[in-house]
Amino acid sequence: MKYADEFRDKELATGLARAIRAKADPSRAYRFMEFCGGHTHAIARYGLEDMLPDNVRMIHGPGCPVCVLPAGRIDMAIALAERPDIILCVYGDLMRVPGSRGSSLLKAKARGADIRMVYSTLDAIALAEQNPSREVVFFAIGFETTTPPTAVMIRAAEKKSLTNFSVFCNHVLTPPAMRAILDSDTPIEIDGFVGPAHVSTVIGTEPYAPFARDDRKPVVIAGFEPLDMMQAILMLIEQVNDGRHEVENQYRRAVAGGGNQRAIKEVAALFELRDQFEWRGLGSIPASALKLRSAFAHLDAELRFAMAERVVADNPACECPAILRGLKKPVDCKLFGTACTPETPVGSCMVSSEGACAAHWTYGRFR
Ligand code: SF4
Repeated sequence: MKYADEFRDKELATGLARAIRAKADPSRAYRFMEFCGGHTHAIARYGLEDMLPDNVRMIHGPGCPVCVLPAGRIDMAIALAERPDIILCVYGDLMRVPGSRGSSLLKAKARGADIRMVYSTLDAIALAEQNPSREVVFFAIGFETTTPPTAVMIRAAEKKSLTNFSVFCNHVLTPPAMRAILDSDTPIEIDGFVGPAHVSTVIGTEPYAPFARDDRKPVVIAGFEPLDMMQAILMLIEQVNDGRHEVENQYRRAVAGGGNQRAIKEVAALFELRDQFEWRGLGSIPASALKLRSAFAHLDAELRFAMAERVVADNPACECPAILRGLKKPVDCKLFGTACTPETPVGSCMVSSEGACAAHWTYGRFR
């Protein structure tokens, strides 16, 4: 496949693995967190950890939008969907994310709630047009990558003067989550970050500068292909060896330093920061999520339907909170592969293909 196979070349990967082994100082450890679940998936899928020396360790981060959505927000969506006047539109991988007490959108749908899986935000607009007597709500989730499509949808709803359409907004931000990991009460040893790919196509490289400048953590933004990851790991090792802590961009074929200015401006026009937002695993993080600006309050489902905020405890047997903070691996969870599988997920990390538990279940390759 053109533009993919070039970045999966076995000889080049072997060469990069040789270069990593040559550069990695055997007298020290290198601990790099890949923030993004897409990178976690790539590491597992291509067995990249098998190509790294023992003293180069990858730590899986919280950059999976489905994984970090707390049970309380799922409960709120279920309560909304159970109203007879509502059609709730969701992306498919949200359906099996556990809420509290074993609930999920899939189970709510089985009980009769009108929950529709959509492939794009504009599918939700079409549903609102086709069902003028029903209230259509779009369950918006994701990091900076998926916020611009939500903005496009809101503009489309405005243009069509839809009066039966609203958004349950759960968009979250990458830099505050990275900050929360570094400032955690139970911090982990991290020597650098593999920066997210898709998120960075939107926000660019500048938002990572404080981690390099103030926290002295190198950041290398990387693409999703195996050669991207191997090159990024080599670049991180070189920074650590040189005592540098900079933001470098391995994924220059897609990420511009200033990001996508059109998307950034449109998101800023429609959304503003929430004071606090509850993350699964990371707790409540200030200024880490978005809500609609007051000019678009009529499209905000939380206001329109007076949705009460719900914060519920995670299943105590599930290690997702520790996994999302990089403190544990999937195999450290007693439920992995027994009570918890992709068919019967107990925690969110087993649901999405970007979740560490699902990736380890599918490929079984994490060290
Ligand atoms: Fe949670 Fe399941 Fe992963 Fe255990 S295996 S941490 S229960 S998602």
